[in-house]
Amino acid sequence: MRSRRRVVIAIVPSLVLNVLVHSGHAWEEGAHTLITSDAVRMLPDPLRAKLQGELASVWTAGVIESAEGYDRLYLGALRGTAPDGAGADAALERFARRAEGMLTAGESLRDVVFVLGKAARIIQDLNVPLHTVWGETVEEHGAYERRAYFHDWPDRGQGYRGFHLVESYECFAFETARRSYGLVSFALWHTPPRRVIKETWDHAVNDTINLWLSIFYRSLGAEKSRDLYAIPSPLEEIGHASSCQRPTTPAR
Ligand SMILES: [Zn+2]
Repeated sequence: MRSRRRVVIAIVPSLVLNVLVHSGHAWEEGAHTLITSDAVRMLPDPLRAKLQGELASVWTAGVIESAEGYDRLYLGALRGTAPDGAGADAALERFARRAEGMLTAGESLRDVVFVLGKAARIIQDLNVPLHTVWGETVEEHGAYERRAYFHDWPDRGQGYRGFHLVESYECFAFETARRSYGLVSFALWHTPPRRVIKETWDHAVNDTINLWLSIFYRSLGAEKSRDLYAIPSPLEEIGHASSCQRPTTPAR
């Protein structure tokens, strides 16, 4: 009886862990915090000062708390049949719109930044190739996310490519997922190529900055965004409605 109980005690945590790894929206929290730190460093000065200073713990809390309420964005299946959607597109839209509404209503930056953290995590997660497919194993998923850290951003050829205004948050989610979906086969390698890790990390940082600046720009308008936060005019638009179409080709 006692040994049986010991077996049960051993199995339950591993089941819980498997469920967490499988449905969890990793990268693990450390990766999200690092990616967001990289993004914060590139923000216009007035925002950077606040987000590196008094509000650092606020966006960190948002990034860490964000996981509930969505589960990736399935574009293809490695095994079996991919379910439809999984909510990351709708969740990104919801959090970004909430942050916009709070800015428009003049709520405190502290409260807005918490929601910005939640939104950031979603767009970062969509840069993980395995978050766009159905049917990978827990081991495959965990193996990629444990290795996909990049501590030297910006590396040569990387860095912030300037403000790209998000037209539709939902379609931005699709656009991001479609880009990382193209890297699925590399993410399944036993040791994922360094260049893939660097590329997804670089995109995750750029996407986070563009998402945040878009939220300010779209809610406050060009003039107020510039006067209050030194947010420049956008170079281009991203997240067009055409990005919302699902790809029709299988992952591999
Ligand atoms: Zn994951």
